[in-house]
Formats: sequence, C-alpha cells, structure tokens
Amino acid sequence: MSAATEERSQTATATTRITPRRAVLKMPEYHPPLAGRDALRLDFNENTFAASPKVIERLRQITAEGLTKYPEREGVERVTAAHFGLQANEVLLTNGVDEAIHLLCAAFLEEDDEAIISTPTFFMYEVSARMMTDHLLRVQAVESLEFPFERFIAAITPRTKLIMVSSPNNPTGAVVSREQVLALCAAAPHAAVMIDEAYYHFHGETMLPDIGKVPNLAVARTFSKAYGLAGLRIGMLAGAAELMKYVRKVSSPYNVNGPALDCLPVALADDAYVQWYAAEVNTGRTRMMDGLRALGIDFFPSHANFVLMKIGPKHALLVKAMRARGVLLRDRSTDPGCDGYVRITVGIEEHVTRGLTALKESLEEIGWTPAEGEPAHGRTAEGEREFE
Ligand code: PMP
Repeated sequence: MSAATEERSQTATATTRITPRRAVLKMPEYHPPLAGRDALRLDFNENTFAASPKVIERLRQITAEGLTKYPEREGVERVTAAHFGLQANEVLLTNGVDEAIHLLCAAFLEEDDEAIISTPTFFMYEVSARMMTDHLLRVQAVESLEFPFERFIAAITPRTKLIMVSSPNNPTGAVVSREQVLALCAAAPHAAVMIDEAYYHFHGETMLPDIGKVPNLAVARTFSKAYGLAGLRIGMLAGAAELMKYVRKVSSPYNVNGPALDCLPVALADDAYVQWYAAEVNTGRTRMMDGLRALGIDFFPSHANFVLMKIGPKHALLVKAMRARGVLLRDRSTDPGCDGYVRITVGIEEHVTRGLTALKESLEEIGWTPAEGEPAHGRTAEGEREFE
C-alpha cells in the first residue's frame, strides 16, 4: 500500500466514526421531484407565468461590482416592515419560508420539546421539526380534509413549544379561521404559533394585524407564489419583537442573497401586478373547479392556487398521461389520508385552459370513470356530497 493510499484509507476510517446528532439520523428527508420540469408546471404551486416586469428590469440593473458586496438585509427589512404596517424588529427576511421554518425550529425546539402540525400539510414542517426533536405530533385532518381544530387543541401539552399551521393549507387548500388561530395561541401561550400564509393572496385573510398584539404568534409569507420569485429564494417571518429576537439570533447575516434583496422592494411596490395575478388565479380556480365538476372529479374546495382532486387507483397513470401532454401535476397519494389524490396548480387563464384540456384527454386515455374517484367518505349518511 502506498503512503498516499494508506493515508486515504485512514481518512476513510476516521470518517466512518463521525456520527450526527440522533435526531439527524432519524429525521426524514424531502426530495421534491424537480427533474425534467420543462413543461407546463402545474405541480409546485408556483406562479405559472412571470414575476412583475419591474422586478425583471431591476434584475437587469445588477452590476458586476454590485455582486461583489455582501448583501445588507436590514434596510430592506425596514421597507418590508413598513409595507406590511409592522415595526422593523418584528420582521425577518429569510431564504424562502423554508428557512423561516428551519430557524423557528432551531430557536425553539429542545430535544424533549413537542411540536404540533396537522397532516396532510407542507412536508418541510416535519423535516425541520424532526431535525430538532423526536416529539412531533401529527394531527390528522378530519375526513373531509378540513383543519382538525378540536383534535389540534387537545394535542397541546405543557411540552408543546412550536405549532406550525399552513392557512391556506398545502396540499388541501383548507383554511383556519382567525378565531381558531387566536384560540390556538391562547391555548399554548408557552409555544410559538406559526401561521404559514404562503398562499395568502388567493384567500385574502391574514393574521398580520395581530402581530405584536399576540405575543406568541408568528406569520410567514413567501414571495415564491403570487409574486413569482421562487427562484430568488426570499420569504418573510413576522412576529412580536421578543419572539423575533431569538429567530434573528439563529439566522446568519447573509441568509438572503443580494439580487433578492434588490428586487423585493420593487416587487412590493408593484402591488398592481400581484393583485392582477391573484385575480387571474381566483377566476381560474372557479373555472378549474367547475371543469373538474363537469368531468365528474371529486375535489376539496380550495382557497389557494391549486386544487386537490380525488382520482383513485389511477392517480399515477393520470400524472403520466398528463406529462406526456406536457402538463405536470403532483401526485399526493403518499400524503396521510390522501390515497388517490392528485394536486393541480391554478395559473393564468391560458394555463388553466391547457390544464383542463389535457386533463379531459388524459382521463379518456386511461379509461377513468367518476366511480373510480369516488371517495369512501365522499358522501354523508344522507347521501350528500361532502366535497363540493
Ligand atoms: N409554505 C408552504 C405552505 C408551501 O407550500 C411552500 C412551497 N411549496 C413553502 C412554504 C415554501 O416557500 P418558499 O419557497 O418561500 O421556501
């Protein structure tokens, strides 16, 4: 064995002795299917069209010299806080809401603490919480897929340190009312309660005015959806200054990149653009739900820019047939309580039309009939449909 080989083999032995924290060994991983997305993207709930032209113009003004500088977050945080009627110390800009979730878990969860989420929901809550603690309580949605409020409240214990709720929820599109959120905050005054408003623009109800008044409330907003900036990676977490102090402490100073910080004030100022996109989606969502009804597909009535459809055993076949027509959908069958469900994003008018046309053709091709999508729980005892 040569000296170099021997050295390498010693290094390899040393490497195998390295073990991460127990929680890291046990936590789940999230690998979204990002490959081969050069098609109509009705799979990730992104803006299907474009960001504001003013943002694109701002990106064009970025200079080589500008890129040499470390990004400065604070100034843009002040602008963002003012835009939302908040104080600067109540706002933290993050590398997408994904990072906000990660930072909340890092700031608040000890190994023995409990976190509570509902299921099905956005998977990153589980990934980030389980990175810190094994004690993640997952409260399953009621059969209709509405938020399981009573069961959720009952799950709160003195060990609950973090609650994460998406409203509207991904992948269902279900919402949690302001009264319910306030009740959660009051029932768990020792826990941070994060309401993820990633899909706010398609619903229009927000907890932001309660920031600061409710000491344990935090609200997350992403710029990846209505604003169309998923590629820039920028989000916001808002909360009482005392709560945000700890989250800010665990964030790194340059977590948000310079181009994203350059663009955010421009995106916020162009409110007309976001309003246009949200209106486009809201009209499109009605068209989409009407279209699904006409095709005999059961679905959850959504408050977001997507609809969760009950396809039944042919869910994977449908996704494949749609892909062959250049339209991407997201199979949610492995989500808890979602066997046979497929999610379709609602975008601008033309994209809704293309989605519905491809859906009709694909269902015909795979020989789908409405009876296959009939959920076992889709009817009440009286024979009324629960889903529509
Ligand atoms: N929250 C929810 C509920 C989401 O669905 C998503 C994106 N799928 C995110 C957060 C992630 O947002 P961001 O791109 O800002 O990390």
